[in-house]
Amino acid sequence: MRFSKIPGLEDEKKILVNSYNSNTIHHAMLFIGNKGSANLSLALAFSTYINCQNKTDDSCGQCSSCSKMDKLIHPDVNFVFPVAPTTKINKEVISDKFIESWRSSVIESPYLSVEDWFEIYGFENKQPNISKDEVRNLIKKLSLKPFESNFKINIIWLPEYLHLSTSNAMLKILEEPPGDTLFFIVTNNDQKLISTIKSRVQSFKVKRFSDEDMKNYLASHKDISEADVDQAIYLSDGDINKAEKYLFVSNKDDLDQLKIWMRSCYSQNFQDINEQVEWFNTLSKIKKRTFLAYSLKLMREALVSSIDESLSRISDDEMSFISKFRNTLNQKDFEDIIILLDENIRYLDRNANPKILFLDLSIKVSNLFKKVKS
Ligand SMILES: [Zn+2]
Repeated sequence: MRFSKIPGLEDEKKILVNSYNSNTIHHAMLFIGNKGSANLSLALAFSTYINCQNKTDDSCGQCSSCSKMDKLIHPDVNFVFPVAPTTKINKEVISDKFIESWRSSVIESPYLSVEDWFEIYGFENKQPNISKDEVRNLIKKLSLKPFESNFKINIIWLPEYLHLSTSNAMLKILEEPPGDTLFFIVTNNDQKLISTIKSRVQSFKVKRFSDEDMKNYLASHKDISEADVDQAIYLSDGDINKAEKYLFVSNKDDLDQLKIWMRSCYSQNFQDINEQVEWFNTLSKIKKRTFLAYSLKLMREALVSSIDESLSRISDDEMSFISKFRNTLNQKDFEDIIILLDENIRYLDRNANPKILFLDLSIKVSNLFKKVKS
């Protein structure tokens, strides 16, 4: 992670770079930022910077140290994060045993939330924490000299998950670390840390992303409209992870849901249709819009691919759904559905009542099927 990959936050980056260049890095820094902020990514970028062999005002991104940092495998950077016992790992439950999953999760999404991490690893129903064993392991590592770098950096993600009995042991390490040791402690909620820990660290507040920073970051993703980006930013309150989810993490569910909805319209079973209306109504506004926009996209694809299949840009699952659909409806019907969906997205944007809108839309689609069936 380089500083330049993180949108905005120029002041924060400058402070970190200056503290390195003036040799005034505090040995224990607390990166405080909300969920979906750059607290973890700044700690990563700073570690990359410190270790880089050709740094200027950012890390070079190319030296052997940078390339190890990109993969989060630098031997002098150690990670600690909350974990829980699993059926396979039930003794000495420490971060090292989960490191590969953690690496790939963070590389894929450096703004991930703790809930994402718990879900990825299937910890949801347990109580992950940073255990006494973890601190014992950390002490063992601190006794070693750095391998390649001038520092041994320890990134501790979410100290709010320190087990109560661990906090004091952690305090001891923070008080008397070996001279070449740095702690970058990354928290979403410093209120949850015991005051003795807070008094040993230097607080470094990471602002939430500005709307403009988020826009620049999200605009680098192709295939989304400016209106969608604006709406995702509006609903996510500076949480870049949330904004990305609003925009991207719905297609699989949307396809399943679209199949159910179309089936209920086709069968003209009003109990089923009503259930779909209730389901639609439970979605957030942007998810409602995302669902309709997704349905519209697929209908357009169905129309395009009926002309030339090679023009279509959709998954196999989507294609198989569309093919079945194409057997039922003709080109004119598709055009009608496309117009209906397009209109309804605009009604939704103008704050139409979503229940009435979706019921009306479902009835109109049902009528199209009725005509085809008769
Ligand atoms: Zn480098």
